[in-house]
Amino acid sequence: MHEYGMTKNVLETVLQQTEEKEAGPITEIHFVLGGHSDVEPDSVRLYFDEISKGTPAEGATLHFRRLPARYRCWDCSKTFETSLEEARCLACGSVRIQPLGGDEFYAESVEVADVS
Ligand SMILES: [Zn+2]
Repeated sequence: MHEYGMTKNVLETVLQQTEEKEAGPITEIHFVLGGHSDVEPDSVRLYFDEISKGTPAEGATLHFRRLPARYRCWDCSKTFETSLEEARCLACGSVRIQPLGGDEFYAESVEVADVS
């Protein structure tokens, strides 16, 4: 299950960033998933509960946002974004398209409790 390792990495990054700011407990984390990522939010939630125990991120609410999938057309060489369900070239309608990147998984923002 690669979600375990990815969740662990992302959580470590989040904890490092909040430590630098001497922040309070983490209440919410907003994650971004690439359009071609096969990361399952439910698996991340499960692993997160386990990995975050005893850290400032324990009990945080997780949010997920999926980016549009990027493709390049083999026939007209245009690059474009579309949903996975309608995977065809927006310029020429070809279905001979190649996925580009889009397997990223990271936290774009973190909300921490006010400790003052
Ligand atoms: Zn095309």
